[in-house]
Amino acid sequence: LGSILPAVRQIIARLEKLPETSRVEAAGSVRRMKETIGDIDILATSSKPAKVMDFFVRMPALPDGSQDGTEVVKVWAKGPTKSSVRLKGGFDCDLRVIQRESFGAALQYFTGSKDHNILIRRLAIKKGLKLNEYGVFRGKKQIAGRNEKKVYRAIGLPYIEPELRTNSGEIEAAIRQAQGRPDGLPRIIGYQDIKGETHCHTDWSDGAETIEQMAQAAKRMGYQYMVIADHAGFLKIAHGLDEKRLLKQMIEIDKVNQRVSGIKILKGCEVDIKDDGSLAIKDEVLAKLDIVLGAVHSSFKMNQADMTKRLARAIANPHLDIIAHPTGRLIRKREAYRFDFSKIFKTAKENRTALEINAYSDRLDLKDADIRQAVQAGVKLTIGTDAHSSRHLPMMELGIAQARRGWATKKDILNSKSVREFLKSF
Ligand SMILES: [Zn+2]
Ligand SMILES: [Zn+2]
Repeated sequence: LGSILPAVRQIIARLEKLPETSRVEAAGSVRRMKETIGDIDILATSSKPAKVMDFFVRMPALPDGSQDGTEVVKVWAKGPTKSSVRLKGGFDCDLRVIQRESFGAALQYFTGSKDHNILIRRLAIKKGLKLNEYGVFRGKKQIAGRNEKKVYRAIGLPYIEPELRTNSGEIEAAIRQAQGRPDGLPRIIGYQDIKGETHCHTDWSDGAETIEQMAQAAKRMGYQYMVIADHAGFLKIAHGLDEKRLLKQMIEIDKVNQRVSGIKILKGCEVDIKDDGSLAIKDEVLAKLDIVLGAVHSSFKMNQADMTKRLARAIANPHLDIIAHPTGRLIRKREAYRFDFSKIFKTAKENRTALEINAYSDRLDLKDADIRQAVQAGVKLTIGTDAHSSRHLPMMELGIAQARRGWATKKDILNSKSVREFLKSF
C-alpha cells in the first residue's frame, strides 16, 4: 500500500485536472487501504468519456521529469467507458467512467470486498430490492445510486467504512446498529485523530536527521508532541546508545525543547529486550525518560514459550511503556516470531503497557487481525512510524489504516490524546 498510494493520488490528481472530469475516486483494495494491493481501480464521472480515455491510455511522464510511476507503458484495453493500462511503476490500473446517477453504487460495487458485496446483495434481495453497480432498484425504479451512503441506507444499513468491508462481522454489526442495539459498528479512529508521533530515530542512533530537524518535521505534521526513541542497548549495528549517551541526549532534548516552540519533544528510547526479558538499559536511567519503548531485535527464532516469557517479563518492568513492532515481522522478508497472544495481551493490560502499531511500510506490525484481538482484550495501542528520517513521518497514515482495519477507535489509540493525557496513560 505504501508504495502504491502516492501513484494513486497522482493519477487521481492528473485526471481531476482534466476539464472533462468532475468526480474522480479510487475504489478497490486501495480504497479499503489493504496492506497489499493488487490493481488500482479508479472511477470517474465525465460528460466526455472518450476524451478522458484518450488522456488516460496515453498518460505521459510528468512534464517536470519527476518519476512518480504513473507513466503508461502498455495499454491492455481501451473502450468508451473502461480502459486498462500498465504503469511504469509496475502496477495495472483500470479506469471506468460512470454515469453520475450511478457513481455511489459503482463506488460501492468496485470497492468490494467481493465477500462483503455478496452479503450486501443478499440483504438487498431479502428486502425485495436489486443492487448492482448501477444502483439499488425496486422493480425498474432506481431508489439509490448517486450517493454511496444512500445505497447502504436503501438496503437498511448505516454507512460502512471501506476499511471494514471484509465480511468479518461488519455487516452483522451494521444490522445490529440499524436495530438500535449498542453493539453496532465501531467508530473507528479517523485519519486526523493522531496528536503525536511515538517512535522516531535521530542521528544519535541510526536515524538520518537531528533531533531538531525531526521535531520541526513532526510539527509540520501538525503534532503536539513526539517521542524520540533512538536505539538503546546492545544493538551495535544501529549505533545504539548506552546509558552515558542516553543521559547526554536527554540534556540535548531539553535544549532543543527551549529552541523549538509549538511541539513538545518527549525523551524516550527503544531499548533492546534481552533474551531473558530484561532490558538492556539500567532501570535508574529508564526512570528519567518520559516514554520507554522496548523491542525484540535479536534471537527471533526462540520457541513460543520462551518468547512469551521474554515479552511478559519486559512488559512487567514498570519503566517499559510500549512494546514496539510486537511481532517482529517484515512484510515478505521475515515471519513474525511466535508467542502466546492472549497471555501477552493479558499481561500488557494488567501492566498498562501499550502495544505498538508500527506504521513503517515494511512492518505494519501489529497487523489488522491482531489489532482487533488486542482491542477486544482491552489492550491499549499506540501508532508510531519508526521514522528514521523526516520523510517517513507521513507513513502514519498507513498505521492509522491498519488500526481502522483492526476496528480500533480513538480511545484504543493512546497517541490520539493530548500530551498530558498521553503521559498519564502508562
Ligand atoms: Zn525496532
Ligand atoms: Zn525503531
